[in-house]
Amino acid sequence: MAYASFSQRFLPLRRRALAALALAASGLLGGSMAAYAQQAPDAAPAPAGPLKVVASFSILGDMVKQIGGGDVQVDVLVGPDGDAHEYEPTPADARRLAAAQLVVVNGLGFEAWLPKLVRASGFKGTTVVASEGVTPRDFGGDATGGHGHDHGAGKPGEHAHDGNTDPHAWQNLANGARYARNIGAALAAADAAHADAYRQRTDAYVARIEALDARVKQAFAALPPERRRVVTSHDAFGYFGDAYGMTFISAMGISTEAEPSAADVARIIGQIRQEKVPAVFFENVSSPRLAQQIARETGARVGGTLYSDALAKPGLPAATYLGMFEWNLSQFMAALKP
Ligand SMILES: [Zn+2]
Repeated sequence: MAYASFSQRFLPLRRRALAALALAASGLLGGSMAAYAQQAPDAAPAPAGPLKVVASFSILGDMVKQIGGGDVQVDVLVGPDGDAHEYEPTPADARRLAAAQLVVVNGLGFEAWLPKLVRASGFKGTTVVASEGVTPRDFGGDATGGHGHDHGAGKPGEHAHDGNTDPHAWQNLANGARYARNIGAALAAADAAHADAYRQRTDAYVARIEALDARVKQAFAALPPERRRVVTSHDAFGYFGDAYGMTFISAMGISTEAEPSAADVARIIGQIRQEKVPAVFFENVSSPRLAQQIARETGARVGGTLYSDALAKPGLPAATYLGMFEWNLSQFMAALKP
């Protein structure tokens, strides 16, 4: 577990300098926010009432709730169905951060927009990198060589991951267990009065994660190898594929452009036909248009919606991390069982 400052952990020097420049120039970080930052206390206050935690996106928010229970108050910056790759923080986010004692982030270059927000908010608490200790994977080389990762929401040039590291480590439940342990340890360290409760809830939660991990492995192992191939919108399932023996072909995320070129789409369609890929899936954080086109042109079955980078809205089956995995598993099995 490490608690290094966010900017140290997250940004190489060049980008830190750029972010500082942007901070000076940005309207978001102008007058009112600077004034707010100056009012922030010099150190995070001792816990009075629930520990105030900010999570960068919905999946981490759920993990903090599962482990924190009634001892924490969790604010999530990028909520259900939100795209945490491309997020524009609001002044309200800065106020939430300023009031928090802990901020939980994914790391691995996922939240490129967050260091600037952390600095602007005057946040003085602890940054917890949930992915600390997982083995990072690179986006695989494909026909186009190393590639960037983009949800295609526009704003060319704004979104770029550091290097070629795949940030979607939560899509392997074994990594999810690591996230839970990191979060549990951080909560216990920040709020010693409830440390035992955090530990107990962490253990119980990790046991559920590990049980589901075993079940997902079993389910995929039972599929014939030629059925273990699907198309998704963006390349969010690399860790999932490595862990559970699936091959994912991503329709987007094959170039750094917002939209794949006609040649890219033609290449994917050719690959799907040649390899007889059985199903094409949508994702809750991506436009369904491209997946629909690919399904139309290849005759591949249209699977359901997968939850990749964000949970579903409260009340839906995929509204929690484990619920998301259960849901995705059921969608895969419905489309891929022979
Ligand atoms: Zn993603």
